[in-house]
Amino acid sequence: MNDKLYHCGFVAVVGRPNVGKSTLINTIIGNKVSIVTPKPQTTRHRILGVDTHDEYQAIYVDTPGIHRHASKAMNRMMNRTAANALADADLVLFMSEANRWTEEDQDVLERLSTVTAPVIALLNKIDKVHPREALFQALSEMAARREFAEVIPISAIKRENIDKLVALVPSYLPESGPLFPSEMISDRSDNFRAAEVVREKLTLELRQEIPYGLTVQIERFEQDEKGILINAVIWVERDSQKGIVVGKGGSVLKRVGRAARVDLKKQFGVPVHLELWVKVKSNWADNESDLQRLGYESP
Ligand code: GDP
Ligand code: MG
Repeated sequence: MNDKLYHCGFVAVVGRPNVGKSTLINTIIGNKVSIVTPKPQTTRHRILGVDTHDEYQAIYVDTPGIHRHASKAMNRMMNRTAANALADADLVLFMSEANRWTEEDQDVLERLSTVTAPVIALLNKIDKVHPREALFQALSEMAARREFAEVIPISAIKRENIDKLVALVPSYLPESGPLFPSEMISDRSDNFRAAEVVREKLTLELRQEIPYGLTVQIERFEQDEKGILINAVIWVERDSQKGIVVGKGGSVLKRVGRAARVDLKKQFGVPVHLELWVKVKSNWADNESDLQRLGYESP
């Protein structure tokens, strides 16, 4: 046994939608624990990515992006989820894009004013910054905005500076035994991850506005020696959306099913048989009891 003390704690990853929070966590964990698309509002839940080592366990908290105009119940719930993650964090990673600073970034930064945990600023997507010298100005502008424990330029996709970041994390974690078994990489069930993969493929396939009006519910998830059988229902808000999700002659649904199957097979390591249905339920995104029934956090 190692006689050094074990460290374990929560690392909240915050930032406006689309800065790369889920990508960063997937890169650190080395598996898809949280889905990624180029569209905002992809991450709707608080998802944990667990990174276990001999001396420490870092529990990364992926948060839904913090939204400016929290009108619908769904958005309010997403904001609450992000706020709770901040209150519980031992370390906060505040992400923005290296070549962009927006009002939404400023809003998130302002929310950090009451946070007592140390905050590391991450300037992501440096692979898109040309020439690299432009980074110097971005780094010094960031350092002037608040007191940060560190300001680190990274690329979550290209893995640039990720090892450096990961090496810094344990020094911020309190002494504690591990909270999760070492083989666990996420707090979410296979069921949940399957639903999220279907939602990721739908979001990638559909035009900008429609993905916000749908959710995915797994009705059947059975594993035997041949593989996994999954039946999933795609809930949409209106009849008109149903037609779009199904597509001409079922073409959209077919593409979504195929892409999801390939991804799920990779994640679970066995063949996956996936069946998808589309059903209408009006205003689910604005009804708190529906949200809870469909697996969204209660307040
Ligand atoms: P989130 O909303 O903050 O969780 O952002 P996501 O992780 O879903 O990423 C949003 C988009 O940014 C996706 O299209 C990602 O592929 C892209 N992205 C994330 N990290 C990087 C990066 O380091 N470089 C580049 N070029 N794109 C990135
Ligand atoms: Mg995300």
